[in-house]
Amino acid sequence: MAECLFCKFVQREIPTQVVYEDEHAFAFRDINPQAPVHILVIPRVHVANLAEATPEQSALLGHLLWVCAEIARKEGIESSGYRVVLNTNRDAGQSVYHLHFHLLGGRHLTWPPG
Ligand code: AMP
Ligand code: ZN
Repeated sequence: MAECLFCKFVQREIPTQVVYEDEHAFAFRDINPQAPVHILVIPRVHVANLAEATPEQSALLGHLLWVCAEIARKEGIESSGYRVVLNTNRDAGQSVYHLHFHLLGGRHLTWPPG
């Protein structure tokens, strides 16, 4: 997607704080962190959100969750705990329409979310 900010991060057209990448996934630090660790994990391919994911992308979605767990290990928040959030469409407050898991940790997170 030519006008997608997160696609531009993946293509390295715009610099960002990359923390992980592989053949299918890309991860970088959120510009407005809501916790000491706030990382966004995205697919390299443009998928607008979970509602737009196809059956063929189910393995990709699973891989992205594994990447969240792997980054949490590397960031040292595995045993203290962390939360993975996937906002979808208006009521969830989705603001960037390239699917992204938020990996949040490094502090106590309240429940329920706002
Ligand atoms: P959401 O509201 O779930 O769509 O999340 C979008 C996230 O992208 C927010 O947490 C923003 O802070 C983050 N974000 C927006 N622009 C940038 C950017 N240029 N670099 C890193 N994170 C960004
Ligand atoms: Zn995109």
